[in-house]
This record gives sequence, C-alpha cells and structure tokens, in this order.
Amino acid sequence: MTGPTGPTGSTGSTGSTGSTGSTGFTRYGITRDALGDLLAEWGEPRFRADQVWRGLHSGRPLEECTDLSKALRARLTDTLPEALRALTTAQGDDGMTHKWLWACGDDGAEVETVLMRYPDRATVCVSSQAGCAMGCTFCATGQAGFVRHLDAGEIVEQVARAAQAVPERVDHAVFMGMGEPLANYDATLAATRRLHEDFGISARRITISTVGLVPGMLRLADEHLPVTLAVSLHAPTDEERERLVPLNRRYPIAEILGAAEIYQRATGRRVSFEYAVIAGVNDDPEQAAVLARLLGGIGPPAVHVNLIPLNPTGDYRGTAPNRGRMETFARRLRVAGLHATVRRNRGTDIDAACGQLRSRHSVRAT
Ligand code: SAH
Ligand code: SF4
Repeated sequence: MTGPTGPTGSTGSTGSTGSTGSTGFTRYGITRDALGDLLAEWGEPRFRADQVWRGLHSGRPLEECTDLSKALRARLTDTLPEALRALTTAQGDDGMTHKWLWACGDDGAEVETVLMRYPDRATVCVSSQAGCAMGCTFCATGQAGFVRHLDAGEIVEQVARAAQAVPERVDHAVFMGMGEPLANYDATLAATRRLHEDFGISARRITISTVGLVPGMLRLADEHLPVTLAVSLHAPTDEERERLVPLNRRYPIAEILGAAEIYQRATGRRVSFEYAVIAGVNDDPEQAAVLARLLGGIGPPAVHVNLIPLNPTGDYRGTAPNRGRMETFARRLRVAGLHATVRRNRGTDIDAACGQLRSRHSVRAT
C-alpha cells in the first residue's frame, strides 16, 4: 500500500508489463504501426495489417478470424500472446452477468472484469489497476491495497476477451472495476481511445469513474473527448467524506466540484456522481438535502446522481438501507431538480458488484 494518494505515474500505451512473445508485444499491447511492421517483415501485403487489426477488434478470438489463413493465425497467436490468463470465470443473474478473474502479464497480478448483459445493450466493467492505493474504507479493492498499474493493452484485452465470450456486441464500457483510472492516466486514456476508435464504442458510452483525483479530472477535461465522467462522492460534507474516502483530505469536495464543472463546460457532458448509500452513515434525508444544495449549482445540464446500495465487503461493517429509505433519499434529490437513479444491483451473487472486486488471495484472507 502506497498511501492514500497513491502512485500517479503511468505506464505507456504498449505492452510494457504484459507477458510478451518474441516481439515484446502482447496481442492488444501492440500498436497498429508495430503490427504493420511485423507483418511487413513476414512478407505479408500491406492490406493484411488492416485485416488483422479489424480481426483483433471484431469480437471474435484471433483463432476464429477465418478470413486470415490458418498459418497466419497460428503465427500471430504464437508471436502475440494474450496478456490475461483466466484463473476463474463465473456467471450469475441467470447468465446475464459474467465475471473473470485474470492473472496479468509475467508477474500474474490479479484483476477482475465484469460483463453485464441486458436485452438491449452489454456493458463491460474493466479494471485499470491491480488493487488500488486510495483506501476507501467500504471498498474491497481499497481494503486489499495497491499492486500495480495495468498497461493499455491489459485494459483493452479485458474488453476484447469479454466481447469474445458472448454473441452480442459490447457497446458500453465503464472504468468501475478495480483501481483508480485517473491514477493510471496515460494507460486509461490510451485504452479509452482504442475502445472508441478500434472497437467502435461511442465515447459517450465510455464512463471513467474517479474518486476525485482533481489533476486527472482537469487533464481529462482538456482532451475534449466526450466520455462520461463519474465522480464518486458518497457524502455531502468534507468531514463525513473523509471518513469514507481518505483522498478527500488532499482534494476536498469544493475542489472536486470545481473540476467537475470545468469538465462539464469543456465537454458539454453531464457529470454523474456516484453515492454508495450506507445505512446510518450517509442515508439521512437531511444529508440528501445538503447534497442537493451542493450539486444544484452545477450545470446546466443538471448533474446526475447514481445511488448505489452499499454492497457487502469483507472488512467493512456497514449495510445498505432498505428500499424505502433509498427511494426517500432519491426523491429528496429529484424535488431539488437533480436527476437521481437507484442502481439495480448486478452480480452480488458472484461477488461481482461495485466495490466487491478483489483478488482471489485477498478473498481467501478474509
Ligand atoms: N476508483 C474508481 C472506480 C472504481 S470503483 C472510483 O472510486 O470511482 C467503482 C464504484 O464502486 C465507485 O463509485 C465506488 O465508490 C463504488 N464502490 C466501491 N465499493 C463499494 C461498495 N462496497 N458498495 C457499493 N459501491 C461501492
Ligand atoms: Fe479505489 Fe475506487 Fe475502491 Fe476507492 S472506491 S478504493 S478509489 S477502487
């Protein structure tokens, strides 16, 4: 564990830490240009690189891209190994939620990915780091501590592998798995661009969720990419928030809201605020009123508040309030003019819900 603010460095956009083949690249760590060079070295015609690149992002495993010759597929599979090795896979909610625990790269750092399928869309929830250094008290990932950053290839491969497991198109991606994406800024941004440009996921359907790393929020505002920014707030006052989110001592609420407004102005995108609701801690209707006053000044467009009933995690004793109290809280926000939704819990049956992700070893330790 590296302290509440954690490492803010980043890894490059290529496969620097993944397990690599003879080229030094993993299958999704390689860049489009490097792939072109590799295929040229193999004496392939120029158009082949486009064909392989399309295949890699097609939602099919490379082995099944039958528009490529069997020999080429075998050579590519061999030369560009996958960075993620599945340790366990689980399905819940009648096959509509899938969770993978992966060992990444040469060091086998463990991360999880969750795919949530709905009748009309499919959302993949990716990890940006193995573990997390931010130490939020109610979050299983935070309780386990920081292991390392993922590189862009490892993030992108999570989406590719999830997409390969189901017949439908994965059309939404959220950085809400393990880790703080803005503490691993370059890799997160490089992966975001790949998801948008190569997988064809619209930027608006990509959500980056942050605990409130203000410098990262401002940097992201400057990219002028219309991705959705979600800010994990969880409490309406600094005093209450500090108890849940240690990083609040470094970046208090006023600074976070200032950065959210700048983001909203720069991108024209409404910012979302996440609020894990904990009985007796932050669920009082009076706290909803304070929250509404706090957020009411941002916009237009008015911000969105996503209320997440607290999911149980090993080291934290809190529980979610009952449905009625959640709804009362939401109503207080709505009457003040905010958009508020109560998030339906997905994946609690397989420990795949928000905040429940942690590596196998940590789970055993609890
Ligand atoms: N580090 C980023 C993104 C990963 S966490 C962030 O904190 O925003 C994704 C979301 O799950 C965050 O809003 C986080 O606060 C929430 N979360 C963490 N633990 C939770 C729990 N036990 N119950 C409900 N939500 C939780
Ligand atoms: Fe890290 Fe987000 Fe969990 Fe906080 S809630 S410990 S920032 S993953």
